[in-house]
Amino acid sequence: MDVKETVSEILDEFKKEYSQANDLDALEDLRIKYLGKKGEVQKLFNKMGSIPAEKRPVLGKEANILKQKIEAELNEKKEKFEAEAKAKKLAEETIDVTLPGKTINQGARHPLSVVTEELEDIFIGLGFEIAEGPELEDEYHNFEALNIPENHPARDLQDTLYFNDSFLLRTHTSPVQVRTMENTEPPIRIIAPGRVYRADELDASHSPVFHQLEGLVIDENITFGDLKGTIRAMVEEIYGKDQEVRFRPSYFPFTEPSAEVDVSCIVCQGDGCSLCSRTGWLEIMGSGMVHPNVLRMSGIDPEKYSGFAFGMGIDRITLLKYGINDIRLLFENDRRFLKQF
Ligand SMILES: [Zn+2]
Repeated sequence: MDVKETVSEILDEFKKEYSQANDLDALEDLRIKYLGKKGEVQKLFNKMGSIPAEKRPVLGKEANILKQKIEAELNEKKEKFEAEAKAKKLAEETIDVTLPGKTINQGARHPLSVVTEELEDIFIGLGFEIAEGPELEDEYHNFEALNIPENHPARDLQDTLYFNDSFLLRTHTSPVQVRTMENTEPPIRIIAPGRVYRADELDASHSPVFHQLEGLVIDENITFGDLKGTIRAMVEEIYGKDQEVRFRPSYFPFTEPSAEVDVSCIVCQGDGCSLCSRTGWLEIMGSGMVHPNVLRMSGIDPEKYSGFAFGMGIDRITLLKYGINDIRLLFENDRRFLKQF
């Protein structure tokens, strides 16, 4: 065999195929065909044993040169293809900053949730624990155990949403107090925030569903002074230190004595405006010393223990805080309204 001629033929064949190789896969096929373990170059080396000894150095030299040439060509095109692929990928991944963005409809916390959690934090800071109870209540826990007897006007069918003869949607969060007293030995210091229901027509200031936060403290030697001190501390936290607080005698079946709590109007500071109906005061909660009957019915000895309770409307606090003039906005789930909080 003529070594140079054979090498030249292989190289020509390679160049012909090489010129047609258009991608990295084709190049890899060529590499295997010519430089692989069973490739054309290796076949040349394999002929070493079958040719005369004096021709072997020439074959070795030519085969090595051929190998290097093929390697060099393959690498050159490989680098070119890789660079092109990279440029193409970069072009595809380029961000067109002029495209309109995707709008993500992000939700916001509901103002009632925000206010409820703020109130909870204030009371947790004052040493209270959070208690919960069912919204579907029985008459005993909603009325009887709270010293509201059968013929009391609060039980009026027109005020209460009855589920059936014995169950109803709770009209206040006070049954949570009863359930806590039944199951807990004093000292008790809880708040019970939650949803309550009344058969009210929906208008700007009334909703059949609203929210209360009820508080209860029971221990030995609890006095009306403790009630006033706690409520003052709470008002300062919620409305600021400048707000004046007054206690007005009132009546609730489950407390004795009872008091409505007013703060000086947050808008006019007492001068009188439309928010406070020209009185200079805003009523913010009801409160009082827990009636001995209520303690007794829940198995707590009124000779040994006393306590106070208070309750406020979370919706009203929310409306005042954000200057919202219609309670219906809190329940309509209009995103344009809700996303402001
Ligand atoms: Zn006012």
